[in-house]
Amino acid sequence: MALITKAIKGTKDVLPREVHKNQYIEGTALDIAERFGYKEIRTPVFEHTELFQRGVGDTTDVVQKEMYSFDDKGGRNITLRPEGTAGAARSFLENGLSNEALPQKVCYLTSCYRYEKPQAGRLREFHQFGVECFGTASPLADAEIIAMAKALFDELGVKDLELQLNSIGCPECRAKYNEALKEYFTGHKDELCDTCKERLDRNPMRILDCKSPVDSKIGEGAPVILDYLCDDCQQHFDRVKEYLTAQNIEYTINPRIVRGLDYYTKTVFEFVSDSIGAQGTVCGGGRYDGLIEELGGQPTPSLGFGMGLERLMLLMEAQGCEFPEAAAPDLFIVALGEKATLKAVDIAKDMRAEGFSCLYDLNGRSLRAQMKYADKLGAKYTIVIGDNEVDEGVAKLKDMKNGTETELALATFVSGYYSITLSEQLADLEINGEELDFNSLFGLGNNQN
Ligand code: ATP
Ligand code: MG
Repeated sequence: MALITKAIKGTKDVLPREVHKNQYIEGTALDIAERFGYKEIRTPVFEHTELFQRGVGDTTDVVQKEMYSFDDKGGRNITLRPEGTAGAARSFLENGLSNEALPQKVCYLTSCYRYEKPQAGRLREFHQFGVECFGTASPLADAEIIAMAKALFDELGVKDLELQLNSIGCPECRAKYNEALKEYFTGHKDELCDTCKERLDRNPMRILDCKSPVDSKIGEGAPVILDYLCDDCQQHFDRVKEYLTAQNIEYTINPRIVRGLDYYTKTVFEFVSDSIGAQGTVCGGGRYDGLIEELGGQPTPSLGFGMGLERLMLLMEAQGCEFPEAAAPDLFIVALGEKATLKAVDIAKDMRAEGFSCLYDLNGRSLRAQMKYADKLGAKYTIVIGDNEVDEGVAKLKDMKNGTETELALATFVSGYYSITLSEQLADLEINGEELDFNSLFGLGNNQN
């Protein structure tokens, strides 16, 4: 077979047989978000290129090297979003969310596009779970979003992540720090990569985020921002640490974290794993007090994080985390002959209306082949309907797990199905590994009257 064309390098299909894993992670993320008061925001996959130049920063790797930008047929310069914050911030301003009660807490599950060298944990189209909290300067909020990321990892059973924490100060402390950095890196100017030579004047802190091995090595000897924090930033940082400790969240201070986007201020953090190779940062985030103003709004201190879903999946697989099983059909109706098929269609309609997943054969298979097919689909129950069953109005519902068969009237099939399957499910119910005792649960046999 000759394919017309293959998928674009650095992209990945998620197939039906594995998509339940993604759905599980995404569903859990939204559930955790809700517990912390975050509501989903959905923004377009593309924006004006200028938004990212301003919002992400034009000295960053993302803007300088990684964006998918193009002119549309109307001559607009457009970019596929490389990250979620800038679009969310634009929407916050454009739609007047800034006039509503603050903070506004939003989250998203989105695709992002970056022209990077594809490798394990690094794709050109990848997906993020991101959260943004617009309009609070409180260190409580910094600790809260970190706690939220941690709550998601805990809920998914991910272990051994190191929370690395740093503060990169505000423009005031950064000015002094940049001077010190400039002086340090100027001493190594000839060894720096071309991009960083240019950054030396415009934004020396960016050099610390450079992926080139030579530049990273030089960066190791550079002055650290923590020695330059102003009183306000130092106090904020101390509070964040205090609030984390109050929640038993362990962290290590890593003064080398500066984050790849220009808009960060004060708190920055990453959750890092050593189980998934070189691309170990699963989640990165921090405070970006200057961004909303940069985009034309009122000063609005804000913060957020982005979590790479492909890296999270890699990590969960590497650690053998449990995933729920893929959903299986509740019922497969094996129908033989035209009359039986019409009956099957009718029953399936009622079953589906009640919320059950109910299937029948579409390809004219034999009885044996239909049973085999039902088995392959993992159907929980099957029923065989032929001319006899239609004439007599009864058929046998078979539990595929234990082979038990129960006769059911076709005229009242759905209610019959309910009563059998519900009692089986109740018998299977456990809470914390303990079988439920229904008599005591409902106060039966314990009547106080
Ligand atoms: P890195 O240092 O690995 O390039 P980054 O600092 O560029 O990461 P962010 O912009 O902070 O990453 O994005 C947040 C998260 O999104 C990252 O921690 C990572 O989990 C994920 N991520 C970033 N780029 C990619 C990519 N190309 N492929 C897959 N996941 C990615
Ligand atoms: Mg990157």
